[in-house]
Amino acid sequence: MSFLAHRSLQQASKISSAAASRSNSRIYILAQRLGLTTLNSSSSSSSRGLHYQAALGSDADVARVVRERQTDLLVLGCGVAGCAAALKAAEQGLKVTMVTSATDPLDCNSFWAQGGIIYKATDDSPSLLSSDIMVAGAGVNDPLAVEKLAMKGPGCVEDLLLRLAPVPFDRKPDGGLALCLEASHNRARIIHWRDHTGRAITESLQQAAASHLNILLLSGMTAVDLAVTEDGGKVSRDSLANKQQQQRRCLGAHLMRVTPDATEPVALRAPATVLATGGLGELYQHTSNPASARGDGFAMAFRAGAALQNMEYVQFHPTTLHLPGERSFLLTEALRGEGARLINLEGEAFATRYHPQGELAPRDVVSRMIVSEMSRTGASHMLLDISHREKGWLRGRFPSIDAHCRARGLDMTRQALPVVPAAHYFCGGVVTDLEGQTSLPGLFAAGEVACTGLHGANRLASTSLLEGLVWGVAIAEQLKTARAGKDGEKAAIAISNMAQKAELAPLGHSVNGANQSLPAAKPEQVDAYMAEIRRTLWENVGVVRRPEGLEHASCYLRRIEAEVLRFYASTRLSKETVSLRNAAETARLIARAAARNTQSIGTHYVESDEGEEADEEEQERKLML
Ligand SMILES: Cc1cc2nc3c(=O)[nH]c(=O)nc-3n(C[C@H](O)[C@H](O)[C@H](O)COP(=O)(O)OP(=O)(O)OC[C@H]3O[C@@H](n4cnc5c(N)ncnc54)[C@H](O)[C@@H]3O)c2cc1C
Repeated sequence: MSFLAHRSLQQASKISSAAASRSNSRIYILAQRLGLTTLNSSSSSSSRGLHYQAALGSDADVARVVRERQTDLLVLGCGVAGCAAALKAAEQGLKVTMVTSATDPLDCNSFWAQGGIIYKATDDSPSLLSSDIMVAGAGVNDPLAVEKLAMKGPGCVEDLLLRLAPVPFDRKPDGGLALCLEASHNRARIIHWRDHTGRAITESLQQAAASHLNILLLSGMTAVDLAVTEDGGKVSRDSLANKQQQQRRCLGAHLMRVTPDATEPVALRAPATVLATGGLGELYQHTSNPASARGDGFAMAFRAGAALQNMEYVQFHPTTLHLPGERSFLLTEALRGEGARLINLEGEAFATRYHPQGELAPRDVVSRMIVSEMSRTGASHMLLDISHREKGWLRGRFPSIDAHCRARGLDMTRQALPVVPAAHYFCGGVVTDLEGQTSLPGLFAAGEVACTGLHGANRLASTSLLEGLVWGVAIAEQLKTARAGKDGEKAAIAISNMAQKAELAPLGHSVNGANQSLPAAKPEQVDAYMAEIRRTLWENVGVVRRPEGLEHASCYLRRIEAEVLRFYASTRLSKETVSLRNAAETARLIARAAARNTQSIGTHYVESDEGEEADEEEQERKLML
C-alpha cells in the first residue's frame, strides 16, 4: 500500500494531480514494523522508509514503537523546518523520530504556501536581500540572523530542494529556474511551483524523509508536553540569562495518539529535541492557516521554561476569501500585483482614498484600509475584483485559486470575490540563537514557532520557508559540531545516557492512572472556549489595536486561561483539550505582550483614543516573556 493510498480519498485527490504531473514523482515505500502491518508499494524504488501511523495501532503498539526506537533526535512537526532538520541529521547518521499530530503529514502550513521561496536573483547579493528584510522588519531584526539567512539561504535551497529532495520548480524555456519579483523585494529572487509552491516543497521533503532509513515518521501523535528533567522546578522567567543557568533540560516529549478513543501519553526520550510545530493563525477568527496551527509549540516551550519573544507581532494578510461557514483561503498578493481592485459593497474602488499606492500599498496598510472600510460601512467583508483580465490568462496564472473558487460556485473571471484580512504569519516565538538552540538545554526550535530574530516586527514575503530550511540545517550542523572530537563524543554519550535514565517531570494526567478515570470533554465546550479566544484576539489584538482593547484582552484571556486549565485538568486527555490548553496559554501571551507594547511598529499597530498612533515613551521593543 502506498503513502498516498492510506489517506482519505479527499486528501489523496488533493495531492494526486500534483504528484501525477511531476516527472520525478516516486511513490513512497513506507514500512510499518515491530509486528505491525508492513506497507509495500508497486514502486520500483529501492529505498525503504518508515511511516508509522499511530491511529492504526493501539496504545500498547505505540508505546512499543516509541520504546524500542533508538532516537538521537526527536523532531516535533514535519513541515519544512522539521523535514529540513530531520533530513540533514539523518544524513549524518543520527536516528531521527519525526512526529506530527496530523493523520495526514501534509496537513501543515508549509503545504499551503502559495507564492514561493527566496533563492537568488541573477544580480543579487546577500547585502541587498538583508536590506530588504531589515526594511520589512522595521529595523528591529537581529542583523546576525538576517545575515545568516542571506548568506546561507541559496546554498540550503540547492542542497535540500534541488539535491536531497528535488522540487519541480517552474523553469524558463532555457531550463533555468524561473525567478519572480514579490512585494518589497528589490530583486526578482523568488522561485515557485505554479501558485502552490508549498505543496511541491512539502511533498518532496516528506517523500525524501519517509524514504530515509534513519527517519521514522510517526503520524497521528500529538506532543502534549516537552519532557523535562524533574530537578529544574524553580524556573525564573525573568531573563534569557537566568534561564540558561538552569539545570533543567529537555529530554524528549510526552506523546499521545490522536484517535477519538485516546489514550495514554507515552514519553519519547531523546538527547535532543527540535520544536518545529509551526504557527498560530487558528487562534484568530479569520486566518489563512490550516486548523492545526493552534500554537502548541509556543505553549509547550513556555511551560517547559524556554524564553519567548516578540509575541505581539502577528502578521495579517489583507485578502483571504470570505465565505460563511468556510475556512478562509488565501488570495495571493500577486492578484493585486496583476491589477485586482478592492471595492466596497457599494461598488466604489476605495484603496486610493486611504493610500496613494492604492492596492499596491504595503501589506499592513492594505489590511488596515480593508478593516477601516468594513467598519465605516458596517460590512462583513470587501470585494476583490480581477474580472477585467483575460479569462484564459487568469486561469493559467492562478490555477489553484481558480479551482478553489470554482469548487465553491465562484468564478473570478466574471465576478468580484468576497475578502477579509486574516492572521497569516507569526513573527515572534521561541527565542533561538543562530544555531537554533533555545534557552532550554536540549531543546532546539526552527520554522514559524521559532523567533530567530530574522523577521523583527514584520516578515518580508517568502522568507519563512527559507528560514525553516536554514535553521533546520543549522540545528543538524550544530549537533554534528557538538559530537565532534573525543570530548564531543563523550559528552554525547553522557547526554544520551541521561536521556534514557533521568527522572522526568510527570504529566498530571498520568499520575496514578488519573487520565482514564476522568470524563471525556464535551466537544461543544471545547468549541465554545476556542470561539471566545478567537473572537477576543480578532477584535482586540487584530489588525488595528487600541490600548483599552489590549488591556481588556489581556485580563479577559487570563481569566479564560484559568478556566481552561481547570477544564483541562478535570477531563480526559484528547487532541482537542491539549490544543485548547495550548491555545488559551498562547493567546494570553500574545495579548499580554501586545498590551505591554504601546508603540506602533511593524505588524503591531496601536491607535489611541484620538485615532492617532500611540506615541508614548520609548518602550523596550523586545519584551521577554
Ligand atoms: C496560505 C499560506 C501561504 C503562505 N505562503 C508562503 C510563501 O509563499 N512563502 C513563504 O516563505 N511562506 C509562506 N507561508 C508561510 C509558511 O508556509 C510557513 O511559515 C512555514 O511553512 C512554516 O513551516 P513550519 O515547518 O515551521 O510549520 P508547519 O509547516 O506548519 O508544520 C508544523 C508541523 O507541526 C505539527 N504539530 C503542531 N503541533 C504539534 C504537536 N503538538 N505535536 C506534534 N506535531 C505538531 C503539525 O502537524 C505540522 O506537521 C504561507 C503560509 C500560509 C498559511
